[in-house]
Amino acid sequence: LNATGFRNEPLRDFARQSDRERMAQAVASVRKMFGRRYGAQVAYRELPATETLPSLNPAAPDEVVGEVGMASLRDTEEALQAASQAQQSWATTPVEERARLVLAVAEAMRRRRDELAAWMVWEVGKTWREADGDVCEAIDFCEYYAREAMELERPERLGRLPGELNELMYVPRGVSAVIAPWNFPLAILTGMTMAAAVTGNAVIMKPAEQSSVIAAQLMNLCNEVGFPPGVIGFLPGRGEVVGEALVTDARVHTVAFTGSMEVGLQIVEKAAKMAPGQAHVKHVVCEMGGKNAIIVDADADLDEAVTGVVHSAFGFQGQKCSACSRVIVHQSCYEAFKERLVEAVKSVLLGPPAEPGTKIGPVVDAQAKASIERYIALGRDEGRVLVQREVPESQGYYVGPTVIEGITPEHRLAQEEIFGPVLALMKAESFDQALAMANSTRFALTGGVYSRSPSNIARARREFAVGNLYINRGITGALVYRNPFGGFKLSGAGTKAGGPDYLLHFMNPRVVVENT
Ligand code: NAP
Repeated sequence: LNATGFRNEPLRDFARQSDRERMAQAVASVRKMFGRRYGAQVAYRELPATETLPSLNPAAPDEVVGEVGMASLRDTEEALQAASQAQQSWATTPVEERARLVLAVAEAMRRRRDELAAWMVWEVGKTWREADGDVCEAIDFCEYYAREAMELERPERLGRLPGELNELMYVPRGVSAVIAPWNFPLAILTGMTMAAAVTGNAVIMKPAEQSSVIAAQLMNLCNEVGFPPGVIGFLPGRGEVVGEALVTDARVHTVAFTGSMEVGLQIVEKAAKMAPGQAHVKHVVCEMGGKNAIIVDADADLDEAVTGVVHSAFGFQGQKCSACSRVIVHQSCYEAFKERLVEAVKSVLLGPPAEPGTKIGPVVDAQAKASIERYIALGRDEGRVLVQREVPESQGYYVGPTVIEGITPEHRLAQEEIFGPVLALMKAESFDQALAMANSTRFALTGGVYSRSPSNIARARREFAVGNLYINRGITGALVYRNPFGGFKLSGAGTKAGGPDYLLHFMNPRVVVENT
């Protein structure tokens, strides 16, 4: 096995009747499993919870998808003890065996892929296509990291001096805490967890509260394939309680975090403090937010640009770290682009994500809806609302896709991550100005350019300061191996997920020199 042999998992084709029927059936059968209880798990034991919170269907919040037992500090202590105990023998388990288990998770996911996707449709409001993509990405992470780990395990000989053998090798760092967001509830949790596990680290998963039921499905798959007890722990619960306890504990060596900038920066600060008894520097992998822009140049193909912008801005209701939240358009095509953009936004199908044709569903919870609506109200002051779609009549947390023009770089709408279906339309006098505007935020995650000018494209390649730049295509949907993902500035430290460097975050490099 090696990374060159890796292939991305093919998406379902819902235009095909068989794929459509399978998914419809999974959506219906998962619904019959609503209301079950899920709790913390340590070494194959489910821990009793004193407090349970419901996880709701964002499209119909009177429906309880599952009841989640909130992990306590005592549960966290149990998980840390179990992980610490498991660490040494897991670290010395041959990589082939660790990779075999991770590949078995991928295989189990393939067998249950429609069901896993259906859980995401119900618990976080993903459309069929988005949910299917999430499962494929999770499978890809397992397949890719398993291959990469095998390659890393072989010591690399440095130099060829006679009489001297120099070898570079990587060893596991130690217990890892994985703190995950809800927006790629299976893919990101799986990616961080399997990266840590395959490189020989015991892992404790702390999923986001909004997606604990999906996370519990991953925990069950890990149990099914038979990881040794203590290697994978599961602590659904509050970030400020469980998350913080993990970040500040002396037994944790690596914190893998994906989420907002605010929480990420707090974690970086807290993990830097030495805890009593700690004899290592903690490593924090933090992948955070974005304020991503697409530039539409004077000579861009506007049909392509409109399609790419709409998909990038409103796919999964704009709740992707890679989502386009600013479109910066050259003044010479501004009016034409604007007209087509508004028409396109008006025609996207909004509705319950469980329906096969839905393109845009509800946002994740009441708090997200309220926060996005506050930004739309602010946008009315800072700019002019061109379109705000009506939402379906329901209790669901719907926010109509919204486009706001007249936004300039000093506006909050041009600087803050909204994490919802709100797009700021900005006008630039030149490509120079467009590039300066695009680079004028604290973030550097994704960016895009639609242009036919080779010299402008070349400039964007050099000067557009983002971790993932896309030319003449949409800016979401990074694929494992082909598009390693992650940003810099305040978008992250510790990239690139799905790429050749990622596993090194979970390992210490060693060099052995032997006089032969
Ligand atoms: P979030 O609010 O920052 O939460 C992320 C995780 O951190 C959750 O599990 C959360 O637990 C936990 N947490 C909260 N407070 C904590 C604390 N004091 N100590 C330790 N852990 C704590 O982010 P989110 O709303 O789930 O996700 C959306 C954000 O993620 C967006 O900003 C998006 O851009 C970013 N994101 C970035 C990437 C990337 O690759 N760069 C990918 C996806 C998402 P609770 O659920 O209990 O609060």
